[in-house]
Amino acid sequence: MKIQLYNTLSHSKEEFKPIDEKEIRIYSCGPTVYSYAHIGNLRTYIFVDNLRRIFKYNGYNLKHVMNITDVGHLTSDADTGEDKMEKAARKEGKSPYEIADFYTKVFMSDMSELNIDMPNIISKATDNIPEMIEMVKEIIKNGYAYETSNGIYFDVTKLEKYPRLSNNKLDNQEAGARVEVDPEKKSPYDFAIWIKAPENHIMKWESPWGLSYPGWHLECSAIGRRFLGKHFDIHTGGVDHIPIHHENEIAQSIGATGQIPANYWMHGEFLLIDGGKMSKSLGNVYTLRDLKEHDIEPLAFKLFCFSAHYRNKLNFTYDGVKAYQTALERLREGYKKHLLGKDSADKTKITEYEKRFHEAINDDLNMPLAMGIVWEVIRESNKSIEYAKLIEKFDEVLGLDLKNYKKYEKKTEITDEVLELVEQRKKARSEKDWKKSDELRDKINSMGFIVKDTPNGMEVEEK
Ligand code: AMP
Ligand code: ZN
Repeated sequence: MKIQLYNTLSHSKEEFKPIDEKEIRIYSCGPTVYSYAHIGNLRTYIFVDNLRRIFKYNGYNLKHVMNITDVGHLTSDADTGEDKMEKAARKEGKSPYEIADFYTKVFMSDMSELNIDMPNIISKATDNIPEMIEMVKEIIKNGYAYETSNGIYFDVTKLEKYPRLSNNKLDNQEAGARVEVDPEKKSPYDFAIWIKAPENHIMKWESPWGLSYPGWHLECSAIGRRFLGKHFDIHTGGVDHIPIHHENEIAQSIGATGQIPANYWMHGEFLLIDGGKMSKSLGNVYTLRDLKEHDIEPLAFKLFCFSAHYRNKLNFTYDGVKAYQTALERLREGYKKHLLGKDSADKTKITEYEKRFHEAINDDLNMPLAMGIVWEVIRESNKSIEYAKLIEKFDEVLGLDLKNYKKYEKKTEITDEVLELVEQRKKARSEKDWKKSDELRDKINSMGFIVKDTPNGMEVEEK
């Protein structure tokens, strides 16, 4: 079945055509590991998880690469401000490497809690310094960059077209947000690919241009090329990457190799909080830990993300997401009922469900439509293991780990009352009062617990 994807590069939905049928090559911009990932960041990785899983569902093999930004991402996204890693290091009184190590681990654990299918290769920017220096040399050699006292700048006027992704003409762009007036730059839109390190910059490397460090955009161009070659299938990120980061990645790759590195550029829309942007000053930069404190499972947040198409904004409120915690529990319950069901399933319906689900996901990842079909299967009045198997198949795309529903069952606390009855039963048995022991067992059962006599003594658990 054909796969349609929206391509930011062509501003249209296109039929996906792989470069190599045997293996699809995808590059995803990864996290800047200076802090906990917020739920907006996580929405973007959930979108990428869907993409991966949909390709696998369609029988493709993947080579998927993601970077970890541990140097060079300045607070402005462009050429100005402090390096986010160094700023965090100063604040927390640690080295930037310690900060990167800690938040990378947290990120991996978030991915695992969201049951996100991880890329085959995850590579840190700081592990790619020679590749980046090499790329800067090539860009200079090809006449696309020049040196100033601050670093090496990409000369956008040398390109046939810039920008390519955002429909914007340069004149229409927000000059203040994007451009810092620097008299040494030939054009205000030129950007740093390699930055000469000020005295107090901790992360810096020897290079032909002195002690310096890479620009954020350069790492993705270099890591993509190192692992996927100079031309691969798909490049992903959030919509905020369109006007600066991805625009500049394309410019650099053209400067070095003469090619736009990927055929399809896909971008996930933003998650809004209470209708607005997340911001530290509003105190609404939520993480998975905050959600868990509100009894929202990470997978309920994932399910919540499926309520909107990845190219539409999604508004997060705690009340809104709570409904998806309930929905997740109902989904598990419904799957379990089918799994234990003894009815037979309608084979024609199964084929029809499969077709509709497949069409929905192949239509530019239409997860809200796909979820509607999942619910129809759940609601089938005939409870059949065949429907359970169908849901398991759909879950290869959803990644909600439904098969392991038992793992997520909430353990009810054993009440003091039950514990007291267990003690009484122990006493009755030691006194060989079997009648009383049985009565007490029945009473414990009636309270929703089972008492078992094991070689290690009496054990009590939820029914
Ligand atoms: P960062 O760690 O800042 O480099 O961002 C990681 C990813 O999260 C990038 O792909 C961003 O585009 C994306 N992102 C940032 N804010 C949001 C948001 N509010 N909603 C969705 N994605 C976001
Ligand atoms: Zn990137």
